[in-house]
Amino acid sequence: MLCTNAPSRTSPTSEEGRAVATRTGKATCCYCGVGCVLTVKAAHNRVIDLTADPDAEPTFGMMCPKGALLTKAGVGSDGPGAGRLLHPMLREHRGAPLRRASWGEAVAFIARRLRDYRDRFGPRAIAYYGSGQLDTEASYVFNKLFKGGLRSNNTDTNSRLCMSSAVAGYVAAFGSDGPPTCYDDIDHADTFFILGANMAANHPVLFNRVRRRRAMDDGVRIIVIDPRRSKTAEYADVHVPVAPGGDVALLQLLSKRLIDAGRVNHDFVHRHTDHFDRYHHLLSSLDEAELLARCGVSAETVDACVDVVGRDARLLSFYCMGANQSSRGTDKNTAIINLHLQLGELCKPGAGPFSLTGQPNAMGGREVGYLCHQLPGYRFVANAAHREEVEQAWGLPPGAIDAEPGLPAVAMFEAAARGEIKAIWVACTNPAVSMPDANTAQEGLRRAELVIVQDCFSTTETTAFADVLLPAAQWGEKSGTMTNSERLVTRSTALLDAPGEAMPDWWIAAAVGRALGFHGFDYASHEEVWDEYRKLTRGTLCDQSGMTNERLDQGPLRWPCPDETHPGTRRRYADRRFPTPTGRARFVASHALPPAEATDADHPLQLTTGRVAYQWHTRTKTGLVPELVRQEPEPFIEIHPDDAAARSLADGQRVRIASRRGVAEAKLRFTLGIRPGLLFMPFHWGDLFEPHSNANDVTSPACDPVSKQPELKFAAVRIDAIGEPRIMGAGTP
Ligand code: SF4
Repeated sequence: MLCTNAPSRTSPTSEEGRAVATRTGKATCCYCGVGCVLTVKAAHNRVIDLTADPDAEPTFGMMCPKGALLTKAGVGSDGPGAGRLLHPMLREHRGAPLRRASWGEAVAFIARRLRDYRDRFGPRAIAYYGSGQLDTEASYVFNKLFKGGLRSNNTDTNSRLCMSSAVAGYVAAFGSDGPPTCYDDIDHADTFFILGANMAANHPVLFNRVRRRRAMDDGVRIIVIDPRRSKTAEYADVHVPVAPGGDVALLQLLSKRLIDAGRVNHDFVHRHTDHFDRYHHLLSSLDEAELLARCGVSAETVDACVDVVGRDARLLSFYCMGANQSSRGTDKNTAIINLHLQLGELCKPGAGPFSLTGQPNAMGGREVGYLCHQLPGYRFVANAAHREEVEQAWGLPPGAIDAEPGLPAVAMFEAAARGEIKAIWVACTNPAVSMPDANTAQEGLRRAELVIVQDCFSTTETTAFADVLLPAAQWGEKSGTMTNSERLVTRSTALLDAPGEAMPDWWIAAAVGRALGFHGFDYASHEEVWDEYRKLTRGTLCDQSGMTNERLDQGPLRWPCPDETHPGTRRRYADRRFPTPTGRARFVASHALPPAEATDADHPLQLTTGRVAYQWHTRTKTGLVPELVRQEPEPFIEIHPDDAAARSLADGQRVRIASRRGVAEAKLRFTLGIRPGLLFMPFHWGDLFEPHSNANDVTSPACDPVSKQPELKFAAVRIDAIGEPRIMGAGTP
């Protein structure tokens, strides 16, 4: 089937000489938060040409290998052989085999079972776990279904694992989520301060723009803060290999040194910020030598960093998982913003704090309010006025929306493992691999009595737990809307028929809403969903009400966009007014605290996890693409040769790492680009690759107390050899 929003049809062409209509349109890349907009030409239900439009925002003709090879990830007519889920499947009882069902039967089955669990155990016994890869329309309908229809705020997503500390940091400092900056700022910046973001691997197109900017101006400098000498760090003028968990101490040390050197923009601080005195007082009480020790870097490295940041130059910070995936993630985010406030390096072109989103629509999901404490339009469930506004828009009686936030991701799966969540609906994500302490997440899926999995593919580690499988359309096969890292809202157009009976995600959620008898789920198209949502953002901090379907079909727009003639907003807070009660931004004074768990004699090493350039999340798509797999065919664990020598381990040897929660196995890879005492393992590989290859069997479920984001970047581990050492060429430094 082809979803609505008909693309353009061009002159007939044909491989066989017969007339064949080609379809041409735009589709936003479904991988990272850069949000490259691709031009797709399709015929015979296959993509025949994929390009990046040189004139189109946001990336002007650039895309990376993952985007360029999207057509090999089982789309359209190439889908069935790639393990696509083609029909609804269900089983009435655990232990019974899954059988094919019609959409009508599957939808009715889900509606009956969800209503039954809600009525018997209350709305908190049911849950939804979604994804920053779903389009805004899908996340909106799921949010409405659970928070409005089923009256359960237990809706959370994998964005909790990557972005919630950035949300908390922005809200604490500016009174609102969302970056003040845009990609154009790269072309105006003098100093790039990149913390906990391996942009060269994970946001490659954006990092190309950074490199291009530096190539054009000798005065541009790049600082990279990362315990590993990442691909990004290789381009740095100053690389600060900070100790894991030492980021806040480093940022405090930089701020303190800069204040002592007179580098405070007193005019900006006086006119536009609150609480500088409190912040200054905290820094004054801190001992420099102690801060330096906590950073774990040399005094010379800090001196070099101070020299570059202290220049009278436009400062643009990029940060991502290294800042966010921490039990102190909110503090790391506010510490970066403190630095900008102190220097007055924001509210102007080329300057500001810029958190990068990992997923293509993590930003749109935040706007749509898909986390358990949120409502659409940057509203919150704990705010009575916000609940009332949404209840009115959704035609619900007063008090219908629960005032108490639901369970965030880690707590949701822990509750399921205790038997408190009876039914869970997982859409477009693979928590059996991607959750920290994945064994607990898997126990939650095992213990829940009804597991609904909505996915493009039939065989993921999570579909193995499903009682109901729902086939979803994927990239190229559905129309919908996404917001990238810079608040740019783009519209994708369906150009291919989805294989089998796969349907757009929003359609599936709406069908269940109708089957439950709920009002307001009679959407005839994705445009109707978008129209309802955009109007609900009117007057809010992420106002998209001016983005009509017609305008988005013509090209992307940045919010705020409050009316239908508004051109969109490149930079927020240009008037230096912030949405706080005083209209000023806030310094946040936090003490530097260590990670949640410590190393000891049994677990003497630190583990950090992350991504590689050629794979995406749990490989359900990129694992299908031979060109990408060849680049990084199997999991590995990076170690400093000194740590390996101390344990008589050889490069290429198979090893096992063990934390207090579980074990993971992979080949050892020597590198001088990692701090002694630290190991790195990518999290892409799960049990489908081979048992015990999942880094998240080891990672920690400890969460930031504000953002509830788990500490995927720090676990105490030990390492042991498995089998005989082998001598390998690849990966040697
Ligand atoms: Fe896709 Fe990101 Fe690559 Fe662009 S940079 S093509 S959005 S993966």
